[in-house]
Amino acid sequence: MPLTNTLPTADLQALDAAHHMHPFTANGALAEKGARIITRADGVRLTDSEGVELIDGMAGLWCVNIGYGRHELAEAAARQMRELPFYNTFFQTSHVPAITLAAKLAELAPDNLNHVFFAGSGSEANDTNIRLVRQYWALKGQPERRTIIARRNAYHGSTMGGGSLGGMAAMHAQGGMPIPGIVHIDQPYWWGEGGDTTPEAFGLERAGQLEAKILELGPENVAAFIAEPVQGAGGVIIPPESYWPEVQRIVDQYGILLIADEVITGFGRLGHWFGSQSYGIRPHIMTVAKGLSSGYQPIGGSIVCDEVAQVVAQDEFNHGYTYSGHPVAAAVALENLRILAEERIVDRVRETTAPYLAQAWSSLSDHPLVGEAVSRGLMASLALTPDKASRAGFAMEPGTAGYICREYCFANNLVMRHVGDRMIIAPPLVITNVDIDMLIDRARRALDQTLAHLHRDGLMMAR
Ligand SMILES: *Cc1c(COP(=O)(O)O)cnc(C)c1O
Repeated sequence: MPLTNTLPTADLQALDAAHHMHPFTANGALAEKGARIITRADGVRLTDSEGVELIDGMAGLWCVNIGYGRHELAEAAARQMRELPFYNTFFQTSHVPAITLAAKLAELAPDNLNHVFFAGSGSEANDTNIRLVRQYWALKGQPERRTIIARRNAYHGSTMGGGSLGGMAAMHAQGGMPIPGIVHIDQPYWWGEGGDTTPEAFGLERAGQLEAKILELGPENVAAFIAEPVQGAGGVIIPPESYWPEVQRIVDQYGILLIADEVITGFGRLGHWFGSQSYGIRPHIMTVAKGLSSGYQPIGGSIVCDEVAQVVAQDEFNHGYTYSGHPVAAAVALENLRILAEERIVDRVRETTAPYLAQAWSSLSDHPLVGEAVSRGLMASLALTPDKASRAGFAMEPGTAGYICREYCFANNLVMRHVGDRMIIAPPLVITNVDIDMLIDRARRALDQTLAHLHRDGLMMAR
């Protein structure tokens, strides 16, 4: 059966509703409404089953960094499938794609991050990280160093480990998370939580919570701190400039491990190969996935520093996935990295597209509904507010205004996501300035329609 659209949209929607359980979705409500069905894509554009074209402001799910339709990746997959479609790396065997990709990542990653443990996704890689840092401290003779500090409103995946590291209250409310040994501090979200303090003072204050938590737990009990350089799924929360240098100072002072979750910020999103380089931080482990293969194949991993890798190598690490270093996924990732480098896509983000987006996006801050319009690299967000001056939230249920705005974006053929009442984008890194203008035109139209809708229904009320 061909995988292109061969049935009427309504039939596809009915089959989808009858049999397909969507992630992070109220499936009952979606079944009534019907999913929008995407049938093909090219560059930064999606086509749905009605033949309508949309701008993909989210690069799929933050992952299609090189854009859609790169046949080189399809050919790399086909070539590898013919030659060696699968082999494992558990029992003293290896294969060319895993070896080559590990070496390539060691070359791209900063400093002494020279070792790669492969996973099938970002969630799996973060599960690996939990076990890796605890095993490291156990082998160092400090097994009581088990607690991992993470942040509220962080996203580190949806497995039991990843979901526990994450700080999403709605996820923790279901299914028994967080697992023991993981604690959370507050996020550096100045617009939403900074009150009367300046962003710089607030960044120091929130970094200071890390030190306070380490002292409360006892430094001898703390294994690691994990954070995204810029929070993605939390709403594209860009920390104040004072935040990361202070976190680095604290991590250094107490000798705990720093895990940078680079699943979104890796592979060019912030104009460097890794977000850690953009912020000048020195992690011991980086989590990668998404942009590693531009989403063309599922693959993730942990890029680990010499010290941690050498200690963990002293004993058998009883951990791994059938698909760790999957040869087809690794071959596709390698081809993706080749294109990112040879076409200077990462440099182009830093030198051209990110500055252009920053300037164009910030023009939205004069819209009456927009409290802030911020970007870093090619990730950007808007805070919707009924009262710009006081940075107030809406009186109605949080996320209602965001949802209404998202629906207008969708109707205007723009994929822009909402997180609560923040609107976010992270387009493919190959987006042109002309397409950025078109994206922002559509976003502005959606904001106008949202504002009219909220006024009409009497919903422009502050909490
Ligand atoms: C998406 C994401 C993950 C989880 O990756 P999956 O491949 O969905 O398991 C982890 N961390 C961050 C920062 C992410 O954005």
